[in-house]
Amino acid sequence: MRILISGASIAGPALAYWLSNYGIDTTIVEVAPKLREGGYAVDFRGEVQLAVLDRMGLLDELRDHSTGGHPTRFVDAHGATVLLLPPEFTGGSLEIRRADLSRLLYEHTRDRVEYRFGDSITALNQTPDGVEVTFEQAPPDRFDLVLGADGLHSRVRRIAFGPEQAYVRHLGYYLASWDLPGHWELDDEQRYYNTPGTLAGVHREIDNPQRARAAAIFVSAADPELRDNRHRQGELLRRVYAGQGWYVPQLLDAFESATDVFFDAVSRVGIPCWSDGRIALAGDAASGATLSGTGTGTAIVGAYVLAGELSRDDRDHAAAFQRYERLMRPYANRDKNGGRTIARMFAPGSRSGLWLRNQVFGNKTSSRVILQLAAHMADKLSLPEYPSRTAMADWRHPNPGPGTEAT
Ligand SMILES: Cc1cc2nc3c(=O)[nH]c(=O)nc-3n(C[C@H](O)[C@H](O)[C@H](O)COP(=O)(O)OP(=O)(O)OC[C@H]3O[C@@H](n4cnc5c(N)ncnc54)[C@H](O)[C@@H]3O)c2cc1C
Repeated sequence: MRILISGASIAGPALAYWLSNYGIDTTIVEVAPKLREGGYAVDFRGEVQLAVLDRMGLLDELRDHSTGGHPTRFVDAHGATVLLLPPEFTGGSLEIRRADLSRLLYEHTRDRVEYRFGDSITALNQTPDGVEVTFEQAPPDRFDLVLGADGLHSRVRRIAFGPEQAYVRHLGYYLASWDLPGHWELDDEQRYYNTPGTLAGVHREIDNPQRARAAAIFVSAADPELRDNRHRQGELLRRVYAGQGWYVPQLLDAFESATDVFFDAVSRVGIPCWSDGRIALAGDAASGATLSGTGTGTAIVGAYVLAGELSRDDRDHAAAFQRYERLMRPYANRDKNGGRTIARMFAPGSRSGLWLRNQVFGNKTSSRVILQLAAHMADKLSLPEYPSRTAMADWRHPNPGPGTEAT
């Protein structure tokens, strides 16, 4: 059994962790020249996600790298507080830098998984007994299965299932983040300023607390021309945020000269089936939603389930893919509105929406109920047990014969 995974962020290395643990020959191809560094934090919520991390033997190590979360303060144009959210609101049960999580997963797999950086799949051709794969750099190869863990804009999904427009839905908002020059006197809090339909904010860079980053979430129709077009992105920001006070003019000025920009539509993946023959999707490629705040936990749980189902009987991948999707789809879609709910919470579209948000989240009881609900939804999965590696080895070799050492 040889499996190729596309993408080495969270879902890919987590899948590789379990597949290689089951003795499956696993290769990961990652388009970036090395493991991606990324300046934001991701979080885990509820017992199910922590249980999977524990079964991977990673929970304590991740706790050592926990950021501890950050308070979120919404202010008015004069800097006065209109709403303060506690750290657990954005940080869940355990918050960690995405780059730390990715690195730990890599370190725990690199000795038994082949990582190919700086390369990408260009074509997939399914045959009755495998998938012929061509790459940008490496010579063509053949694998039994191919798993797309290459994110919301997955190339595997595009090649095997069709163009992105068919599966990725714009949720009415854009999200941007960029580095700020000079000295900003910031503490541990993320500070945000709203007008109806917009949020502008500033917070410390998670990798380098001496530096500051700007954030923007705003209502805007989908425009495919915005992707990778800094000039057009800057123009849109200027138009949307024209005339705003607080620190917005300084933040916008910094966009022009920023060196590390993230700019993307807030969107959600919706694909009728997560597999096609010998190709399946995982993590954000299957069910991602920008800003949903649930993607990382889902990716980790999904990797455990997909690899576990394949380990039950690796001769029937189609049945394994179906069991994986039956279990994981309701879990991945537990918050049906995903990114839109969070975008509306951060940047409500009207004055009354802003007022209501501040009342609901500013109230200790209702905000506690919302947090409990999020944790409850993250636990809506009965985690299956899968055979250990030793049990798999026994299953493959039921009768080792005399003189053969048991594995
Ligand atoms: C700004 C921001 C903030 C976020 N905040 C949170 C949060 O607070 N909480 C939370 O749970 N989640 C958050 N997320 C989402 C979270 O990062 C994802 O849900 C999670 O990383 C899912 O991981 P993934 O491995 O499926 O996809 P990704 O992390 O997107 O990784 C995809 C990988 O595939 C690689 N790749 C892409 N194209 C190719 C190709 N053609 N060939 C090979 N490799 C390729 C990429 O380089 C990348 O390494 C946030 C995301 C962003 C962008």
